[in-house]
This record gives sequence, C-alpha cells and structure tokens, in this order.
Amino acid sequence: MVSFVPKYEYKCADVVPDCSLEIKGASSEEEMMSMLQVHAKICHKLDKVPPATVEKIKKAIKKR
Ligand SMILES: [Zn+2]
Repeated sequence: MVSFVPKYEYKCADVVPDCSLEIKGASSEEEMMSMLQVHAKICHKLDKVPPATVEKIKKAIKKR
C-alpha cells in the first residue's frame, strides 16, 4: 500500500524574479518555510522574511 502524501513545490522566481532556487518535495508548508528562511538569509540577506513576502511565498507554494 502506498498512501498519498502531498508534496510542496516552490520557485523563488515567482517572488524574486532573478532567483533560480526551486524547492521540491517538502512534506509540509512548515518544512517549506523553514527551508526558505535559510535560503532567504543566505541568498537574499534577510534575517527575517517580512510578513508581506511570507504572504507572496505562501501563494507561490504549489501543492501536488
Ligand atoms: Zn531566492
């Protein structure tokens, strides 16, 4: 038996046009956001992602 587990995908280009980051296979929105916070800090020099950007990111996350 294989149970269906939704996977979350995100392309940073949907929020930051010149960024090529893609994350695939996160198993929850929380997991995705924690990976993105690391990426935002390293690549976008954001210690904390602003709430308006978090909203954009959540809209850009695709669940499949
Ligand atoms: Zn990025």
